[in-house]
Amino acid sequence: MGSRSHFASRVLSCARLTPLVALVALASGCGHSAAQPTPPLPVAPVAAPTPPRVVIFSIDGLRPDALLQAGAPVIAGLAARGASTWRAQTVMPSTTLPSHASMLSGYLPSAHGITWDDYRPENGPIAVPTVFSVARAAGLRTVIIAGKEKLRQLDVPGMVQRFDLCAGDDQEVATRAVGEAMAGFDLMFVHLPQTDLTGHAQGWMSAAYLDAIAGADRAVGRVLAALPAGTTVMVTADHGGHDFNHGTTQPAAMLIPWVVAGPRVAVRTLTTRDRASGATAPAAGGRRRWP
Ligand SMILES: [Zn+2]
Repeated sequence: MGSRSHFASRVLSCARLTPLVALVALASGCGHSAAQPTPPLPVAPVAAPTPPRVVIFSIDGLRPDALLQAGAPVIAGLAARGASTWRAQTVMPSTTLPSHASMLSGYLPSAHGITWDDYRPENGPIAVPTVFSVARAAGLRTVIIAGKEKLRQLDVPGMVQRFDLCAGDDQEVATRAVGEAMAGFDLMFVHLPQTDLTGHAQGWMSAAYLDAIAGADRAVGRVLAALPAGTTVMVTADHGGHDFNHGTTQPAAMLIPWVVAGPRVAVRTLTTRDRASGATAPAAGGRRRWP
């Protein structure tokens, strides 16, 4: 069985999981399905398996066409050695909190119920399982570094072991993420807010917006340099934008990048056929398989 088909079969063995959740389950060794034979007992000592680690970067408000225009060599490098598409699609409403709730749970807004876009503690944390609850069930250490307070809505008690709200810029977020990488983690979500904030202030596709993307790319690079070998890395966004806002069904707001690279990820460009499912991976889309 080739590596690609093996990868796909492992994903499908987690078929009840959503794409993003399945990826983390894959990295954590989800594959003990009834269909798999019980492996023989080892007859000699074996080396301990490499700890599965996943980092998910969300670059808030990042349009894929702007990413390509800005250059972004770090993210382009990840795409070159992983699976990627520049035409993934977020959910409606194409706003920060609903989109991140979908990205990190695999549920559409109609299912997870978070349709507002500010922090509302009175509504309680997200009520559906998330990628963090899957990781915690596997005994893994989970971390969120958030650049906006509204992401507290995804901080379910007991599921996220460290929630770090970072009010600084993308470089400060990266500095915190480097610290967490040094401290040890299994699943870390890193939210870089500056691209979106610059889009609102200066306009999407403005020179300042493109500069912010270049800064986010450098921030990703700083974190990558601190990660243990063998870490699976994802880069995506919650939405794009146009003029000075987002939230609409326009492609400029709906299209997002989606990149994953790691030791168990086949190198490929996701095709148009993949796109229908691949697009749902960063932004929910229910129960379709991926890739
Ligand atoms: Zn956003």
